[in-house]
Amino acid sequence: MIMALNIHSIRLGINRCYVIQDRGCIMIDGGPPNSEHAIENWFQSIPIRPEEIQLIVLTHGHADHVGAARGAKRITSAEIAIHEYDRDLLESGTLAWPTAVTIWGHVVRAAMTPFKAMLRFPEVQADLVLRDEGRSLDNYGIAGRVIHTPGHTMGSVSVLLETGDAFVGCLAHNNLPFRFNPGLPIFAEDMDRLRDSWAKLLDQGARTIYPGHGDPFSADIIRKALML
Ligand SMILES: [Zn+2]
Ligand SMILES: [Zn+2]
Repeated sequence: MIMALNIHSIRLGINRCYVIQDRGCIMIDGGPPNSEHAIENWFQSIPIRPEEIQLIVLTHGHADHVGAARGAKRITSAEIAIHEYDRDLLESGTLAWPTAVTIWGHVVRAAMTPFKAMLRFPEVQADLVLRDEGRSLDNYGIAGRVIHTPGHTMGSVSVLLETGDAFVGCLAHNNLPFRFNPGLPIFAEDMDRLRDSWAKLLDQGARTIYPGHGDPFSADIIRKALML
């Protein structure tokens, strides 16, 4: 039986979390701190029960993506996956402040500084530690893979489905306050590696980009930005 692929998204403050339903269900990112209730309510509004989620893939260890991971794990009983390079942030509840790579990035970073205390989050242990080789999601009923896509942080990962749908966390930004339009992120630890990660994703068939902030958009926009 061929099942239709369903992608559900929720806006949690400036963040976006996703549930992908194929033969199985996984969730992308754990939401910003204090978003547990919103996540619980979200499951009331989509045709998926929280216990159907078998895996929560954390795209990276920044607080706005892992802040409610412990709550999301409690709600769903799913395993939590994060790349080994960002694992310590999650497991120690450490707030890592992003590195700005554009003038606007510096402005936003400075504007966020007074709110640092609000980004504290409870730590949680990883169940599945991702490494460089990538990993098939077949065991979770998803026709796709997790790919190591460093650059925004060294432990950033993306989920690339066979359909070309790519969930990239902060490998791209869209919508305010980060960008007016879709494109490369305003924060990155290593822009060269980020470009390499994009080349890898595009090469492997990424067509529609689902960013961790803002609406989905066509991969052609990134191709143009990178002049590939
Ligand atoms: Zn980030
Ligand atoms: Zn973010």
